[in-house]
Amino acid sequence: MFRFLYPHYRVNSVLELTGEWLIQQEIFTIFLDVDNTIKFYKSTLVTSDVVDWIHELQRNHIQFYLVSNGLSKRISHVAEQLGLEYAAPAYKPFPYVCRRLMCHEKLDPQYVAMVGDQVFTDVIAGNLAGIRTILVKPMRPEQEPFFTRMKRPFEQWVLKLERSEYSEQ
Ligand SMILES: [Mg+2]
Repeated sequence: MFRFLYPHYRVNSVLELTGEWLIQQEIFTIFLDVDNTIKFYKSTLVTSDVVDWIHELQRNHIQFYLVSNGLSKRISHVAEQLGLEYAAPAYKPFPYVCRRLMCHEKLDPQYVAMVGDQVFTDVIAGNLAGIRTILVKPMRPEQEPFFTRMKRPFEQWVLKLERSEYSEQ
């Protein structure tokens, strides 16, 4: 019923996404959320295991763009550390920035996926933009700002609803 709320795939962490699996799924471009997806909310830098993961996938010809609701000034530092292009603020859950990025970079939505930790921003934006969505567990939910923490119980409700809908089929 609420299909636009449901992620196509769910994993515990970005580190579980291997080049082999992504290529099998024909995902060649990743729109990557930043806060609590690849770095702790309060940290300014991405940890070395995530940096290695990005480099490994780039060797498999997977390309990345950071797509964050954070302010440009803050996200540009992360983008610089990783040597990636970025779109920020991306105004997720609205899909316009994702669509504009695909148009600008001449990306076929069929081969793009959004990877992020929030249903109400990342998953909805990706789904509305017509790309696949991969939900990861937030890295450190206890550090999240109040507004994000408030949304988490509703997220759990959505994910439970999804499970019950699929089990009825
Ligand atoms: Mg996030």
